[in-house]
Amino acid sequence: MRASGGCHCGAVRFEAELPEPPVPAIDCNCSICRMTGYLHLDVPHEKFELVAGRDSLSSYRFGTGAAEHLFCRSCGVKSFYQPRSHPGSWSVNCHCLDEPVELEVVPFDGRDWEQAKANLDAQEQRG
Ligand SMILES: [Zn+2]
Repeated sequence: MRASGGCHCGAVRFEAELPEPPVPAIDCNCSICRMTGYLHLDVPHEKFELVAGRDSLSSYRFGTGAAEHLFCRSCGVKSFYQPRSHPGSWSVNCHCLDEPVELEVVPFDGRDWEQAKANLDAQEQRG
C-alpha cells in the first residue's frame, strides 16, 4: 500500500510502501518517544522515498548516538528518522501520514531498551 506524509509545514515530504493493513506500529515509551508522542512504522530504506525537504532536516543524537532523530528545522516535527532498533529501515511517524491507516499497535518498552530489543528480535524470528 502506497502512503505519503510529511512534517507540519510541508517542507519535508515522503512516500512509503507499507504492508497491507492492519499495519504493525510500535508504541515506544523511551525518553524521547514519550515526550513527542511518536508512533513508529518500520519502513525498509528501499521502500521509502524522501520527496522534498532534505535541506530542511535537522539531526539530533543522544545516548549511544546510534539513532539519528531528524526533525524539520522550521516546524520541529519529526516525521521520520533512523532508529537504532532497525538499522536497515526508517521509522515513519504514523501521526505524519496524510491519510489515517489501520494500525496494529505493539508496545515497545524503550525505557528498558536492551531487553525490549531482545524480545522484539525473538518475536520477529518466530515470525
Ligand atoms: Zn516542517
